[in-house]
Amino acid sequence: MDAKSSDRPIRIDLDSIPSGLFINGKWRDGAASDGIDVFDPSNESLLKTVANATVEDGIKAVDAAAAAASAWACTAPRRRAEILLRACEIMTERSEWLATLISLENGKALADARGEVAYAAEYFRWFAEEAVRIRGDISVAPSGNNRIVVQYQPMGIAVLITPWNFPAAMATRKIGPALAAGCTCILKPATETPLTAFAILKILTEAGLPAGVVNAVTTKQPGPVVSAMLNDPRVRKLSFTGSTEVGRRLLAEAAKSVVHCSMELGGNAPFIVFDDADLDAAVNSAMIAKMRNGGEACTAANRFYVHTKVMDEFASRLAEKMGALEVGDGAASTTACGPLVNKSSLDKVSALVSDAVAKGAEIKVGGSRIQRKGYFYAPTVLASVPEDADLYRDEIFGPVAALYPFENEHEVIARANDSEYGLVAYVFTHDLARGMRVSERLEAGMIALNRGLVSDPAAPFGGVKQSGLGREGSHHGILEYLEAKYIAVNW
Ligand code: NAD
Repeated sequence: MDAKSSDRPIRIDLDSIPSGLFINGKWRDGAASDGIDVFDPSNESLLKTVANATVEDGIKAVDAAAAAASAWACTAPRRRAEILLRACEIMTERSEWLATLISLENGKALADARGEVAYAAEYFRWFAEEAVRIRGDISVAPSGNNRIVVQYQPMGIAVLITPWNFPAAMATRKIGPALAAGCTCILKPATETPLTAFAILKILTEAGLPAGVVNAVTTKQPGPVVSAMLNDPRVRKLSFTGSTEVGRRLLAEAAKSVVHCSMELGGNAPFIVFDDADLDAAVNSAMIAKMRNGGEACTAANRFYVHTKVMDEFASRLAEKMGALEVGDGAASTTACGPLVNKSSLDKVSALVSDAVAKGAEIKVGGSRIQRKGYFYAPTVLASVPEDADLYRDEIFGPVAALYPFENEHEVIARANDSEYGLVAYVFTHDLARGMRVSERLEAGMIALNRGLVSDPAAPFGGVKQSGLGREGSHHGILEYLEAKYIAVNW
Protein backbone atom coordinates (compact mmCIF):
# COMPACT_ATOMS: atom_id res chain seq x y z
CA MET A 1 0.00 0.00 0.00
CA ASP A 2 1.29 3.41 -0.86
CA ALA A 3 1.01 5.27 2.43
CA LYS A 4 0.74 8.59 0.66
CA SER A 5 -2.29 7.76 -1.42
CA SER A 6 -4.05 5.84 1.34
CA ASP A 7 -7.53 6.41 2.60
CA ARG A 8 -7.41 9.39 4.98
CA PRO A 9 -10.92 10.33 6.06
CA ILE A 10 -10.05 14.00 6.70
CA ARG A 11 -7.73 16.31 4.79
CA ILE A 12 -6.01 18.90 6.95
CA ASP A 13 -5.42 22.36 5.55
CA LEU A 14 -1.93 22.85 6.97
CA ASP A 15 -2.04 26.56 6.10
CA SER A 16 -4.71 26.97 8.78
CA ILE A 17 -2.19 25.95 11.45
CA PRO A 18 0.25 28.63 12.64
CA SER A 19 3.97 28.07 12.22
CA GLY A 20 5.47 30.79 14.42
CA LEU A 21 6.31 31.29 18.05
CA PHE A 22 3.32 32.23 20.20
CA ILE A 23 4.34 35.15 22.38
CA ASN A 24 2.02 37.56 24.14
CA GLY A 25 -0.97 36.35 22.14
CA LYS A 26 0.70 36.86 18.74
CA TRP A 27 2.27 34.46 16.29
CA ARG A 28 5.80 35.63 15.41
CA ASP A 29 8.71 34.39 13.35
CA GLY A 30 11.64 32.99 15.29
CA ALA A 31 14.88 34.96 15.24
CA ALA A 32 16.86 31.92 14.05
CA SER A 33 16.95 31.79 10.26
CA ASP A 34 16.54 28.03 9.71
CA GLY A 35 13.14 26.62 10.58
CA ILE A 36 12.15 23.23 12.03
CA ASP A 37 10.85 20.76 9.46
CA VAL A 38 7.91 18.63 10.60
CA PHE A 39 7.49 15.34 8.75
CA ASP A 40 4.72 12.81 8.21
CA PRO A 41 6.21 9.52 9.50
CA SER A 42 3.78 7.50 7.37
CA ASN A 43 5.43 8.63 4.14
CA GLU A 44 8.42 10.82 5.12
CA SER A 45 6.96 13.88 3.36
CA LEU A 46 7.40 17.40 4.73
CA LEU A 47 4.24 18.69 6.41
CA LYS A 48 5.32 22.17 7.43
CA THR A 49 8.29 24.20 8.63
CA VAL A 50 7.89 25.99 11.96
CA ALA A 51 9.86 28.70 13.75
CA ASN A 52 13.10 27.92 15.50
CA ALA A 53 13.46 30.00 18.68
CA THR A 54 16.71 31.47 19.92
CA VAL A 55 17.62 32.18 23.55
CA GLU A 56 16.37 35.77 23.05
CA ASP A 57 12.99 34.45 21.85
CA GLY A 58 12.78 32.27 24.96
CA ILE A 59 13.35 35.29 27.19
CA LYS A 60 10.73 37.28 25.24
CA ALA A 61 8.28 34.49 26.08
CA VAL A 62 9.23 34.82 29.76
CA ASP A 63 8.69 38.61 29.48
CA ALA A 64 5.19 37.98 28.14
CA ALA A 65 4.38 35.44 30.84
CA ALA A 66 5.69 37.87 33.49
CA ALA A 67 3.60 40.76 32.13
CA ALA A 68 0.44 38.63 32.27
CA ALA A 69 1.19 36.94 35.62
CA SER A 70 -0.36 39.25 38.14
CA ALA A 71 -3.63 39.81 36.26
CA TRP A 72 -4.01 36.08 35.64
CA ALA A 73 -3.30 35.19 39.28
CA CYS A 74 -6.02 37.69 40.26
CA THR A 75 -8.53 36.47 37.64
CA ALA A 76 -11.51 34.94 39.38
CA PRO A 77 -11.18 31.16 39.63
CA ARG A 78 -14.62 30.84 38.03
CA ARG A 79 -13.41 32.77 34.98
CA ARG A 80 -10.27 30.63 34.72
CA ALA A 81 -12.53 27.57 34.92
CA GLU A 82 -14.86 28.87 32.20
CA ILE A 83 -11.98 29.35 29.76
CA LEU A 84 -10.67 25.83 30.39
CA LEU A 85 -14.14 24.36 30.04
CA ARG A 86 -14.75 26.20 26.76
CA ALA A 87 -11.38 24.94 25.47
CA CYS A 88 -12.45 21.38 26.38
CA GLU A 89 -15.69 21.88 24.45
CA ILE A 90 -13.95 23.23 21.34
CA MET A 91 -11.44 20.35 21.40
CA THR A 92 -14.33 17.92 21.60
CA GLU A 93 -16.19 19.63 18.73
CA ARG A 94 -13.02 19.40 16.61
CA SER A 95 -11.96 15.96 17.75
CA GLU A 96 -11.87 14.31 14.31
CA TRP A 97 -9.79 17.13 12.90
CA LEU A 98 -7.40 17.17 15.85
CA ALA A 99 -7.07 13.38 15.82
CA THR A 100 -6.12 13.47 12.15
CA LEU A 101 -3.54 16.18 12.82
CA ILE A 102 -2.01 14.07 15.62
CA SER A 103 -1.86 11.02 13.34
CA LEU A 104 -0.27 13.09 10.58
CA GLU A 105 2.67 14.40 12.57
CA ASN A 106 3.08 11.57 15.10
CA GLY A 107 2.07 8.59 12.97
CA LYS A 108 -0.17 6.95 15.57
CA ALA A 109 -3.29 5.15 14.35
CA LEU A 110 -6.40 7.32 14.11
CA ALA A 111 -8.19 5.25 16.78
CA ASP A 112 -5.34 5.99 19.21
CA ALA A 113 -5.36 9.66 18.20
CA ARG A 114 -9.12 9.89 18.83
CA GLY A 115 -8.53 8.39 22.26
CA GLU A 116 -5.81 10.94 22.89
CA VAL A 117 -8.02 13.91 21.95
CA ALA A 118 -10.76 12.75 24.34
CA TYR A 119 -8.17 12.17 27.08
CA ALA A 120 -6.48 15.53 26.43
CA ALA A 121 -9.74 17.53 26.42
CA GLU A 122 -10.72 15.85 29.68
CA TYR A 123 -7.68 17.41 31.41
CA PHE A 124 -9.08 20.85 30.60
CA ARG A 125 -12.46 19.84 32.01
CA TRP A 126 -10.94 18.24 35.10
CA PHE A 127 -8.81 21.29 35.92
CA ALA A 128 -11.71 23.65 35.19
CA GLU A 129 -13.43 21.81 38.02
CA GLU A 130 -10.31 21.98 40.23
CA ALA A 131 -9.81 25.73 39.64
CA VAL A 132 -12.76 26.58 41.88
CA ARG A 133 -11.85 24.05 44.59
CA ILE A 134 -8.46 25.32 45.77
CA ARG A 135 -8.77 25.18 49.53
CA GLY A 136 -6.55 26.33 52.36
CA ASP A 137 -7.02 25.62 56.05
CA ILE A 138 -7.05 27.31 59.39
CA SER A 139 -6.25 25.98 62.83
CA VAL A 140 -5.42 27.14 66.34
CA ALA A 141 -1.71 26.85 67.13
CA PRO A 142 -1.06 24.19 69.81
CA SER A 143 0.14 26.95 72.14
CA GLY A 144 -3.22 28.67 71.79
CA ASN A 145 -1.42 31.94 71.10
CA ASN A 146 -2.36 32.46 67.45
CA ARG A 147 -4.12 31.06 64.42
CA ILE A 148 -2.33 29.14 61.64
CA VAL A 149 -3.78 30.17 58.30
CA VAL A 150 -2.64 28.25 55.21
CA GLN A 151 -3.48 29.63 51.81
CA TYR A 152 -2.48 28.28 48.38
CA GLN A 153 -1.02 30.69 45.85
CA PRO A 154 0.14 30.20 42.25
CA MET A 155 3.79 29.16 42.15
CA GLY A 156 4.67 31.65 39.41
CA ILE A 157 5.83 31.39 35.81
CA ALA A 158 6.02 27.78 34.63
CA VAL A 159 8.08 26.27 31.81
CA LEU A 160 6.28 23.25 30.38
CA ILE A 161 8.21 20.78 28.20
CA THR A 162 6.36 18.03 26.36
CA PRO A 163 7.35 14.95 24.30
CA TRP A 164 6.11 13.88 20.86
CA ASN A 165 4.31 10.70 21.85
CA PHE A 166 1.15 12.37 23.26
CA PRO A 167 1.39 15.84 21.70
CA ALA A 168 -2.10 16.90 22.85
CA ALA A 169 -2.51 15.15 26.19
CA MET A 170 0.92 16.00 27.59
CA ALA A 171 0.27 19.67 26.76
CA THR A 172 -3.20 19.82 28.35
CA ARG A 173 -2.04 17.78 31.36
CA LYS A 174 0.36 20.65 32.13
CA ILE A 175 -1.45 23.74 30.78
CA GLY A 176 -4.72 22.74 32.50
CA PRO A 177 -3.43 22.70 36.10
CA ALA A 178 -1.04 25.64 35.52
CA LEU A 179 -3.92 27.86 34.35
CA ALA A 180 -6.31 26.57 36.99
CA ALA A 181 -3.76 27.41 39.70
CA GLY A 182 -3.28 30.93 38.32
CA CYS A 183 0.19 30.45 36.79
CA THR A 184 1.23 31.84 33.42
CA CYS A 185 3.46 29.63 31.31
CA ILE A 186 5.71 28.91 28.36
CA LEU A 187 5.15 25.65 26.50
CA LYS A 188 8.03 24.02 24.65
CA PRO A 189 6.58 21.24 22.50
CA ALA A 190 8.72 18.51 20.91
CA THR A 191 10.13 19.43 17.50
CA GLU A 192 8.54 16.31 15.94
CA THR A 193 4.97 17.35 16.84
CA PRO A 194 4.52 21.11 17.30
CA LEU A 195 1.43 21.43 15.09
CA THR A 196 -0.93 19.78 17.58
CA ALA A 197 0.36 22.09 20.31
CA PHE A 198 -0.20 25.12 18.07
CA ALA A 199 -3.76 23.97 17.32
CA ILE A 200 -4.45 23.72 21.07
CA LEU A 201 -3.07 27.24 21.65
CA LYS A 202 -5.41 28.56 18.97
CA ILE A 203 -8.28 26.82 20.75
CA LEU A 204 -7.32 28.39 24.09
CA THR A 205 -7.29 31.82 22.44
CA GLU A 206 -10.73 31.19 20.96
CA ALA A 207 -11.89 30.13 24.42
CA GLY A 208 -10.98 33.58 25.72
CA LEU A 209 -7.50 33.14 27.20
CA PRO A 210 -5.83 36.57 27.60
CA ALA A 211 -2.58 37.32 25.77
CA GLY A 212 0.63 36.25 27.48
CA VAL A 213 -0.95 33.67 29.80
CA VAL A 214 0.28 30.77 27.65
CA ASN A 215 3.22 31.30 25.30
CA ALA A 216 4.97 28.72 23.13
CA VAL A 217 8.44 28.33 21.66
CA THR A 218 9.70 25.60 19.38
CA THR A 219 13.44 25.30 19.04
CA LYS A 220 16.21 23.16 17.63
CA GLN A 221 18.41 24.08 20.58
CA PRO A 222 16.31 23.16 23.60
CA GLY A 223 19.32 23.00 25.93
CA PRO A 224 20.37 26.68 25.76
CA VAL A 225 16.83 28.06 25.36
CA VAL A 226 15.43 26.14 28.34
CA SER A 227 18.54 26.80 30.40
CA ALA A 228 18.17 30.57 29.83
CA MET A 229 14.52 30.43 30.88
CA LEU A 230 15.25 28.36 34.00
CA ASN A 231 18.00 30.74 35.02
CA ASP A 232 15.70 33.74 34.69
CA PRO A 233 14.67 34.49 38.29
CA ARG A 234 11.06 35.13 37.23
CA VAL A 235 10.61 31.43 36.31
CA ARG A 236 9.66 29.35 39.38
CA LYS A 237 8.37 26.09 37.95
CA LEU A 238 9.47 23.41 35.49
CA SER A 239 7.19 20.60 34.44
CA PHE A 240 8.86 18.13 32.11
CA THR A 241 7.66 14.99 30.39
CA GLY A 242 10.23 13.06 28.42
CA SER A 243 13.15 10.73 28.81
CA THR A 244 14.93 10.10 32.11
CA GLU A 245 18.20 11.12 30.48
CA VAL A 246 16.97 14.63 29.60
CA GLY A 247 15.08 14.83 32.92
CA ARG A 248 18.30 14.31 34.86
CA ARG A 249 19.98 17.14 32.91
CA LEU A 250 17.06 19.48 33.53
CA LEU A 251 17.00 18.71 37.26
CA ALA A 252 20.64 19.74 37.43
CA GLU A 253 19.87 22.92 35.47
CA ALA A 254 16.86 23.76 37.65
CA ALA A 255 18.95 23.28 40.80
CA LYS A 256 20.96 26.39 39.95
CA SER A 257 17.97 28.64 40.65
CA VAL A 258 16.14 26.14 42.89
CA VAL A 259 13.22 25.95 40.45
CA HIS A 260 10.38 23.64 41.57
CA CYS A 261 10.32 20.53 39.33
CA SER A 262 7.71 18.01 38.28
CA MET A 263 9.20 15.18 36.23
CA GLU A 264 7.30 12.55 34.23
CA LEU A 265 10.07 10.36 32.86
CA GLY A 266 10.65 7.01 31.25
CA GLY A 267 9.32 3.59 32.20
CA ASN A 268 10.10 -0.12 31.91
CA ALA A 269 6.73 -1.56 32.85
CA PRO A 270 6.43 -5.18 33.95
CA PHE A 271 3.24 -7.01 32.90
CA ILE A 272 2.76 -10.03 35.16
CA VAL A 273 0.42 -12.89 34.23
CA PHE A 274 -0.15 -15.48 37.00
CA ASP A 275 -1.30 -18.99 36.13
CA ASP A 276 -4.82 -18.35 37.54
CA ALA A 277 -5.36 -15.24 35.38
CA ASP A 278 -8.27 -14.93 32.98
CA LEU A 279 -6.19 -15.38 29.82
CA ASP A 280 -8.72 -13.70 27.54
CA ALA A 281 -8.58 -10.58 29.70
CA ALA A 282 -4.79 -10.81 30.01
CA VAL A 283 -4.23 -11.08 26.25
CA ASN A 284 -6.73 -8.34 25.39
CA SER A 285 -5.20 -6.06 28.04
CA ALA A 286 -1.70 -6.92 26.83
CA MET A 287 -2.71 -5.59 23.41
CA ILE A 288 -3.75 -2.30 25.02
CA ALA A 289 -0.79 -2.05 27.40
CA LYS A 290 1.67 -2.84 24.60
CA MET A 291 0.08 -1.43 21.47
CA ARG A 292 -1.58 1.84 22.47
CA ASN A 293 0.28 4.33 20.24
CA GLY A 294 2.08 1.43 18.56
CA GLY A 295 4.11 0.89 21.74
CA GLU A 296 5.33 4.50 21.90
CA ALA A 297 4.03 5.18 25.41
CA CYS A 298 5.83 5.60 28.73
CA THR A 299 3.21 3.24 30.15
CA ALA A 300 3.86 0.57 27.49
CA ALA A 301 4.37 -2.93 28.88
CA ASN A 302 8.09 -3.56 28.34
CA ARG A 303 8.66 -6.87 30.14
CA PHE A 304 5.95 -9.55 30.02
CA TYR A 305 6.44 -11.99 32.91
CA VAL A 306 4.24 -14.99 32.24
CA HIS A 307 3.89 -18.01 34.55
CA THR A 308 5.47 -21.10 32.94
CA LYS A 309 2.14 -23.00 33.12
CA VAL A 310 0.39 -20.51 30.83
CA MET A 311 3.35 -19.22 28.82
CA ASP A 312 2.77 -21.25 25.65
CA GLU A 313 -0.90 -20.38 25.43
CA PHE A 314 -0.36 -16.70 26.25
CA ALA A 315 2.49 -16.41 23.72
CA SER A 316 0.58 -18.01 20.88
CA ARG A 317 -2.60 -16.01 21.54
CA LEU A 318 -0.68 -12.75 21.76
CA ALA A 319 1.31 -13.56 18.61
CA GLU A 320 -1.92 -14.27 16.74
CA LYS A 321 -3.42 -10.92 17.71
CA MET A 322 -0.22 -8.98 17.03
CA GLY A 323 0.21 -10.64 13.62
CA ALA A 324 -3.38 -9.74 12.66
CA LEU A 325 -2.95 -5.98 13.23
CA GLU A 326 -3.25 -3.88 10.11
CA VAL A 327 -0.08 -1.81 9.82
CA GLY A 328 -0.31 1.32 7.71
CA ASP A 329 -0.67 5.04 7.32
CA GLY A 330 -1.54 6.42 10.76
CA ALA A 331 -4.21 8.77 9.45
CA ALA A 332 -6.01 6.09 7.41
CA SER A 333 -9.29 4.75 8.77
CA THR A 334 -8.41 1.05 8.81
CA THR A 335 -4.95 1.24 10.39
CA ALA A 336 -4.43 -0.43 13.76
CA CYS A 337 -0.68 0.24 14.02
CA GLY A 338 0.98 3.26 12.42
CA PRO A 339 4.68 3.94 11.82
CA LEU A 340 7.22 4.90 14.47
CA VAL A 341 7.75 8.63 14.82
CA ASN A 342 11.09 8.89 12.98
CA LYS A 343 14.03 6.98 11.57
CA SER A 344 16.07 6.97 14.75
CA SER A 345 13.15 5.36 16.64
CA LEU A 346 12.84 2.73 13.91
CA ASP A 347 16.58 2.05 14.01
CA LYS A 348 16.49 1.74 17.79
CA VAL A 349 13.61 -0.78 17.80
CA SER A 350 15.26 -2.75 15.03
CA ALA A 351 18.59 -2.86 16.90
CA LEU A 352 16.89 -3.95 20.15
CA VAL A 353 15.17 -6.89 18.41
CA SER A 354 18.36 -7.93 16.57
CA ASP A 355 20.29 -7.86 19.84
CA ALA A 356 17.65 -9.98 21.65
CA VAL A 357 17.52 -12.51 18.81
CA ALA A 358 21.33 -12.72 18.64
CA LYS A 359 21.30 -13.49 22.38
CA GLY A 360 18.75 -16.31 21.96
CA ALA A 361 15.21 -14.84 21.87
CA GLU A 362 12.71 -16.69 19.69
CA ILE A 363 10.60 -14.70 17.21
CA LYS A 364 6.94 -15.75 17.51
CA VAL A 365 5.73 -13.16 15.00
CA GLY A 366 7.17 -10.12 13.21
CA GLY A 367 10.79 -9.37 13.93
CA SER A 368 11.63 -7.02 11.08
CA ARG A 369 11.08 -3.60 9.50
CA ILE A 370 8.43 -3.32 6.83
CA GLN A 371 10.08 -2.38 3.54
CA ARG A 372 8.15 0.65 2.35
CA LYS A 373 8.37 4.40 2.66
CA GLY A 374 7.75 5.53 6.24
CA TYR A 375 9.06 4.21 9.56
CA PHE A 376 7.22 0.91 9.88
CA TYR A 377 8.13 -2.03 12.10
CA ALA A 378 6.09 -5.24 12.16
CA PRO A 379 4.23 -5.98 15.43
CA THR A 380 6.53 -8.48 17.10
CA VAL A 381 6.41 -11.07 19.88
CA LEU A 382 9.67 -12.46 21.26
CA ALA A 383 9.69 -15.48 23.61
CA SER A 384 12.47 -16.92 25.80
CA VAL A 385 14.14 -13.52 25.94
CA PRO A 386 17.41 -13.60 27.94
CA GLU A 387 17.74 -10.98 30.66
CA ASP A 388 21.02 -9.74 29.24
CA ALA A 389 19.18 -8.52 26.13
CA ASP A 390 19.26 -4.72 25.88
CA LEU A 391 15.47 -4.49 25.71
CA TYR A 392 15.22 -5.94 29.22
CA ARG A 393 16.59 -2.66 30.62
CA ASP A 394 15.81 -0.13 27.83
CA GLU A 395 12.41 1.26 26.94
CA ILE A 396 11.51 -0.46 23.65
CA PHE A 397 9.12 2.31 22.56
CA GLY A 398 7.80 0.29 19.65
CA PRO A 399 5.48 -2.61 18.75
CA VAL A 400 7.58 -5.36 20.34
CA ALA A 401 6.45 -7.62 23.20
CA ALA A 402 9.24 -9.45 25.04
CA LEU A 403 8.16 -12.48 27.11
CA TYR A 404 9.99 -13.90 30.15
CA PRO A 405 8.83 -17.02 32.04
CA PHE A 406 8.54 -17.12 35.86
CA GLU A 407 7.75 -19.75 38.49
CA ASN A 408 6.56 -18.02 41.67
CA GLU A 409 5.27 -14.81 43.21
CA HIS A 410 8.32 -13.96 45.27
CA GLU A 411 10.64 -14.37 42.28
CA VAL A 412 8.51 -12.31 39.89
CA ILE A 413 8.21 -9.39 42.30
CA ALA A 414 11.99 -9.26 42.68
CA ARG A 415 12.51 -9.40 38.91
CA ALA A 416 9.80 -6.82 38.20
CA ASN A 417 11.45 -4.45 40.70
CA ASP A 418 14.87 -4.99 39.15
CA SER A 419 14.82 -1.71 37.21
CA GLU A 420 15.83 1.90 37.77
CA TYR A 421 12.33 2.81 36.55
CA GLY A 422 9.07 2.63 38.49
CA LEU A 423 6.27 4.18 36.47
CA VAL A 424 3.58 1.54 36.07
CA ALA A 425 3.13 -2.23 36.51
CA TYR A 426 0.38 -4.55 35.28
CA VAL A 427 -0.79 -7.60 37.27
CA PHE A 428 -3.18 -10.34 36.14
CA THR A 429 -4.55 -12.84 38.66
CA HIS A 430 -7.95 -14.19 39.63
CA ASP A 431 -6.95 -14.04 43.31
CA LEU A 432 -7.69 -10.51 44.48
CA ALA A 433 -5.78 -10.98 47.74
CA ARG A 434 -2.67 -11.89 45.75
CA GLY A 435 -3.34 -9.01 43.37
CA MET A 436 -3.39 -6.50 46.22
CA ARG A 437 -0.39 -8.09 47.96
CA VAL A 438 1.70 -7.98 44.79
CA SER A 439 0.50 -4.43 43.97
CA GLU A 440 1.71 -3.20 47.35
CA ARG A 441 5.15 -4.73 46.84
CA LEU A 442 5.76 -3.55 43.28
CA GLU A 443 7.93 -0.46 43.05
CA ALA A 444 5.77 1.63 40.72
CA GLY A 445 3.74 4.82 41.02
CA MET A 446 0.76 3.17 39.32
CA ILE A 447 -0.58 -0.40 39.19
CA ALA A 448 -3.10 -1.77 36.71
CA LEU A 449 -4.70 -4.80 38.39
CA ASN A 450 -6.51 -6.93 35.81
CA ARG A 451 -6.55 -3.92 33.46
CA GLY A 452 -4.46 -2.79 30.51
CA LEU A 453 -4.84 0.96 31.05
CA VAL A 454 -4.23 3.31 33.98
CA SER A 455 -4.35 6.79 32.42
CA ASP A 456 -7.23 8.86 33.76
CA PRO A 457 -7.35 12.63 34.34
CA ALA A 458 -9.04 11.96 37.68
CA ALA A 459 -6.15 9.77 38.93
CA PRO A 460 -2.63 10.74 40.06
CA PHE A 461 -0.28 9.88 37.18
CA GLY A 462 3.42 9.57 37.96
CA GLY A 463 6.32 7.35 38.84
CA VAL A 464 8.75 6.41 41.59
CA LYS A 465 12.52 5.86 41.36
CA GLN A 466 13.94 7.29 38.11
CA SER A 467 10.51 7.49 36.48
CA GLY A 468 9.89 10.87 37.99
CA LEU A 469 8.88 13.31 40.68
CA GLY A 470 5.38 14.57 41.39
CA ARG A 471 1.97 13.66 40.00
CA GLU A 472 -0.20 14.96 37.16
CA GLY A 473 -3.98 14.71 37.05
CA SER A 474 -6.39 14.31 39.99
CA HIS A 475 -6.37 16.90 42.81
CA HIS A 476 -2.61 16.19 43.18
CA GLY A 477 -2.02 17.71 39.73
CA ILE A 478 -2.96 21.26 40.68
CA LEU A 479 -0.82 21.15 43.84
CA GLU A 480 2.25 20.93 41.58
CA TYR A 481 1.54 24.58 40.59
CA LEU A 482 0.56 25.92 44.01
CA GLU A 483 2.65 26.98 46.96
CA ALA A 484 1.36 26.83 50.52
CA LYS A 485 1.62 30.15 52.31
CA TYR A 486 1.39 30.03 56.11
CA ILE A 487 0.23 33.16 57.92
CA ALA A 488 0.60 33.23 61.71
CA VAL A 489 -2.19 35.51 62.92
CA ASN A 490 -3.17 37.11 66.15
CA TRP A 491 -6.74 38.32 66.19
P1 NAD B 1 13.01 13.54 25.11
O1 NAD B 1 13.47 13.53 26.52
O2 NAD B 1 14.00 13.32 24.05
O3 NAD B 1 12.31 14.92 24.78
C1 NAD B 1 11.26 15.43 25.56
C2 NAD B 1 11.20 16.94 25.40
O4 NAD B 1 12.40 17.49 25.93
C3 NAD B 1 11.11 17.42 23.96
O5 NAD B 1 10.29 18.57 23.91
C4 NAD B 1 12.55 17.78 23.63
O6 NAD B 1 12.67 18.75 22.62
C5 NAD B 1 13.00 18.34 24.97
N1 NAD B 1 14.45 18.32 25.19
C6 NAD B 1 15.36 17.48 24.68
N2 NAD B 1 16.60 17.81 25.13
C7 NAD B 1 16.43 18.88 25.95
C8 NAD B 1 17.32 19.67 26.72
N3 NAD B 1 18.63 19.45 26.76
N4 NAD B 1 16.82 20.69 27.44
C9 NAD B 1 15.49 20.93 27.43
N5 NAD B 1 14.60 20.22 26.73
C10 NAD B 1 15.05 19.19 26.00
O7 NAD B 1 11.82 12.49 25.05
P2 NAD B 1 10.93 12.09 23.79
O8 NAD B 1 11.74 11.20 22.93
O9 NAD B 1 10.29 13.28 23.19
O10 NAD B 1 9.76 11.27 24.50
C11 NAD B 1 9.88 9.95 24.85
C12 NAD B 1 10.21 9.81 26.33
O11 NAD B 1 9.21 10.47 27.11
C13 NAD B 1 10.20 8.38 26.79
O12 NAD B 1 11.28 8.14 27.65
C14 NAD B 1 8.88 8.27 27.55
O13 NAD B 1 8.85 7.25 28.52
C15 NAD B 1 8.77 9.62 28.16
N6 NAD B 1 7.38 9.92 28.51
C16 NAD B 1 7.03 9.92 29.82
C17 NAD B 1 5.72 10.16 30.19
C18 NAD B 1 5.32 10.15 31.63
O14 NAD B 1 4.25 10.66 31.92
N7 NAD B 1 6.11 9.60 32.54
C19 NAD B 1 4.75 10.41 29.21
C20 NAD B 1 5.15 10.40 27.86
C21 NAD B 1 6.47 10.17 27.53
